[in-house]
Amino acid sequence: MIYPLIIVGAGASGLAAAVTAGRAGAEALVLEKKEQPLKKLLLTGNGRCNFTNLNISADAYFSHDTGFPERFLRNFRTEDALSFFRELGLYPSYRGDYVYPMSMQAQSVREALLQGIQGLPVSIRCGIAVRNISCDIKKRLFSLQYEGGDFQCRKLIIAGGTPAGVRDKEAFSADRILRSFGHHVYPLKPALVKLLGKNGFESYWDGVRHHCIVKLQRKSDGKVFSEEGEVQFARDGISGIPVFQLSHPAGEELELEGQAAVIFDLIPDLSEDALFNALNQLKNSPYHAGRELRDILTGFLPKKLIKAVFSQNEEAGRKTACSLSEGELRTVSGLLKAFPYRVSGCGDALLSQVMRGGADLREFTDQLESRIIPGLYAAGEILDIDGKCGGYNLHFAWGSGILAGRSAAESLLGKAL
Ligand SMILES: Cc1cc2nc3c(=O)[nH]c(=O)nc-3n(C[C@H](O)[C@H](O)[C@H](O)COP(=O)(O)OP(=O)(O)OC[C@H]3O[C@@H](n4cnc5c(N)ncnc54)[C@H](O)[C@@H]3O)c2cc1C
Repeated sequence: MIYPLIIVGAGASGLAAAVTAGRAGAEALVLEKKEQPLKKLLLTGNGRCNFTNLNISADAYFSHDTGFPERFLRNFRTEDALSFFRELGLYPSYRGDYVYPMSMQAQSVREALLQGIQGLPVSIRCGIAVRNISCDIKKRLFSLQYEGGDFQCRKLIIAGGTPAGVRDKEAFSADRILRSFGHHVYPLKPALVKLLGKNGFESYWDGVRHHCIVKLQRKSDGKVFSEEGEVQFARDGISGIPVFQLSHPAGEELELEGQAAVIFDLIPDLSEDALFNALNQLKNSPYHAGRELRDILTGFLPKKLIKAVFSQNEEAGRKTACSLSEGELRTVSGLLKAFPYRVSGCGDALLSQVMRGGADLREFTDQLESRIIPGLYAAGEILDIDGKCGGYNLHFAWGSGILAGRSAAESLLGKAL
């Protein structure tokens, strides 16, 4: 049997493609290597699934095709994601700009998609890992091989995702399959991931969570990336949402320069002058003048962080407030407002939420059909675009799946939808 449409991968983008193609009347088979569809979705947003964002903008995405995020968002805005899910019977709940299902459970999003294909000419077959795909361009026929045999189809959507956050060691094939069709695929590297460092003082701050501003300056063009939020300090590095947000440019910087440095503003609530004035007041207070600087700072920072900051100059931390000169107080204020941290690596794929890199978008139309192999489409994270934390990656998965599903169906049915 020759299937009109096969979708490889029953993840977020694959299911969005299947619902869209099926509703248009196109018959589709979804192949999934795991025993269940949408397994990764259950992990998202700490089990709550932050599935889109009210404030989606192109600058929340990274891609070598710098114009693509803007063009994509013209085709698929927040309202489009919300109405796709409303039509599936799923209602949103908002936490700031982050959008979750009203149940606050990822399981509900999964159910909405799986129930959404019921009654459509769509079927899912799990436990089928597609190994190789070939294409007879003249016959307009794709052949997909798996361990137990093969399938044939007229249109093919690759929605196989990436190894981000995935425990099984089995080689992922979506990137290899696209390469075998002659597509250029940027190497997949972890993003939205912790940053590793060995600065010698990490054991002091291990376990601390503290609200900071974290900055990274890219050497190549001097661009500064700045994020604010709760940083988790650990014995092997730093994590938390602001760090994740910087992990894409930090990873690139590590690749290009061999190192990356971030700067912490450890006291974002006070300007440097205000911090200096506060410390100066304490120095001049009869109650505090005799206290050591490191003790005085406990009024501003967790003790373990103070230990880390002064680990290379313990003497400075032990000075009494009254013995500090104005210059020394300015130095301390400056250090706390711009504490440097050398980054030596990124966490691995299992720890990451997405991978940067992927198939070069310039080789696909805006409807996500390959410019190299007609009838071949790609959707989701395997494409060279990744977003920040906050629902941007799932937003892209839904939107790209819908675009690919719609354009494959249009081509099969010979009409515009
Ligand atoms: C822990 C964690 C938390 C996250 N939280 C969020 C969040 O809250 N908000 C957000 O926007 N994003 C989040 N993400 C990112 C988001 O989950 C992904 O960007 C999104 O799932 C990508 O969708 P996709 O369809 O491209 O890939 P996937 O959803 O990974 O689906 C790909 C599917 O293809 C299957 N497959 C792969 N190769 C083959 C093959 N050869 N044959 C058959 N099947 C195959 C896989 O098993 C998988 O089921 C999170 C990711 C992780 C890991």
